[in-house]
Amino acid sequence: MQIAVLTIFPSMFDLFWEHGIVRRAIADGHIRPEAMDIRAFTDDRHHVTDDRPYGGGCGMVMKPEPLARAIAAARKRTGGGLTVLMSPQGDKLSQRTAEELARQSGLIFICGRYEGVDARIVRRHVDYALSIGDYILSGGEIAAMVAMDAIIRLLPGVLGGAESASCDSFSDGLLEHAHYTRPREFEGQSVPEVLLSGDHQAIARWRHQMSLIETLLRRPDLLEHRQLDKQETALLRQWSQTLERILKHQAAHRPDSLSGRQ
Ligand code: SAH
Repeated sequence: MQIAVLTIFPSMFDLFWEHGIVRRAIADGHIRPEAMDIRAFTDDRHHVTDDRPYGGGCGMVMKPEPLARAIAAARKRTGGGLTVLMSPQGDKLSQRTAEELARQSGLIFICGRYEGVDARIVRRHVDYALSIGDYILSGGEIAAMVAMDAIIRLLPGVLGGAESASCDSFSDGLLEHAHYTRPREFEGQSVPEVLLSGDHQAIARWRHQMSLIETLLRRPDLLEHRQLDKQETALLRQWSQTLERILKHQAAHRPDSLSGRQ
């Protein structure tokens, strides 16, 4: 995948390209990334990339001409990659969005600064606006790194078999189960017995149950939108019946429930 990032701070990406899975993806030829300096596409002596907003108001706006030229150059570099503007007004990044973007052959990320970019750039040159959440950052660089990190690890062959992305939270609509490594005892807490059993089926069953219960407790909204399989439906029914029993028992044994007092 060809990746171009348009930014006024290209050196912010130096460390990003040099570590972990991203570094390996570059070394193995899965991605060809480049941070392109928007200033290089200015035509004035001071390389100005911002200007005052028409109509007044706070802050500065990114000038359209250098951006349009930078986007055209990035399109060439990426073989017509999809142009993604990092923006708090965009669609919110999710695992599904990352999967979709990972299917593109080229991506161009535009990192805004100041109050954002001239609206005519957004209208004419941007294919997709992407937000990483409902908060305001001072620039799109970190947001682009977040998006790229999520996308790059999904590209075929980037993760080794042992670290498959299909195990991760969200990939199958559930949060992931807890992880344990050595030692067996740590600060008085031991590793769940089943993980030491060597029984792979029992381990898989336990992990699936833990995923389901973590999701139920922390992100019930994910379960509401998920097609539950037979085993999950049975487990949720069983837990629901247990809860009902506990609550009934409580109600029956609460002294004030007899007198009708609160
Ligand atoms: N005035 C703008 C915010 C500008 S923040 C507004 O209220 O919408 C400056 C730049 O940071 C933006 O152009 C965008 O590129 C980036 N940015 C800020 N918050 C972001 C977020 N939540 N997701 C993605 N990019 C963001």
